Amino acid sequence: MDCIPYEEFLANLARVRARVAAACADAGRPVVSVRILAVTKTHSVEAALYAMRAGLAGAGENRVQEALEKIATCPDKTVRWELIGHLQSNKANKAAAAFARVQSVDRIELAQKLDRAAAVAGRILPVLLQINAGDDPAKFGANCADAPALLEAALKCPALKVEGLMTIAPLAPENPDVAKKCFARLRETRDALAKQFKVPLPELSMGMTDDLDAAVKEGSTLVRVGTALFGRR
Ligand SMILES: *Cc1c(COP(=O)(O)O)cnc(C)c1O
Repeated sequence: MDCIPYEEFLANLARVRARVAAACADAGRPVVSVRILAVTKTHSVEAALYAMRAGLAGAGENRVQEALEKIATCPDKTVRWELIGHLQSNKANKAAAAFARVQSVDRIELAQKLDRAAAVAGRILPVLLQINAGDDPAKFGANCADAPALLEAALKCPALKVEGLMTIAPLAPENPDVAKKCFARLRETRDALAKQFKVPLPELSMGMTDDLDAAVKEGSTLVRVGTALFGRR
């Protein structure tokens, strides 16, 4: 695992920020309403340190084992590590203790396991509910139809703090409308859930290197960016 020089990262970041700003301008949104989570998977711990040094929202990792190794060796204990990948229930204990937030809560059983684990660890664990808003058979995430039951269960977990929703758009580079529809649907799902359960759910984690522009136009508050910041994996 290695990492590009910091100067190159800063130049990449400037381009990502310009894209976010352009999409915000298009949508009439303030630039400060969108934050950038640096996706550091497959890159060295250095990448997470860059992200913090540049004032980004944190470092996103999709594999628990890889992330735990980085967290253990990272010299800066203030790095905010977020889990953005699928979480097996048997790793819930470790995840609940190690991550600043888990974005991939996609089933009731997992929410309840994380709740118990967070309670044991003596903390409140911020989470996002992962929703398969693009109905993509290749993606994890609860179906939109199952989202109310998942939220209801998560809200009953005293050691979890549900901050919003996360989605990954289907891969369809030839048809940008697919991602746009997925993001719009996540926002609509959030609006409906917030109304039904009378909870704010402010965070909408959506958009990556190839589709962050569409995501910001549809209301994303957190784009998860790897390739555009650190180069190809
Ligand atoms: C890898 C990954 C990203 C970042 O993807 P890029 O296309 O490299 O920006 C975002 N979200 C999730 C869930 C990922 O696994």
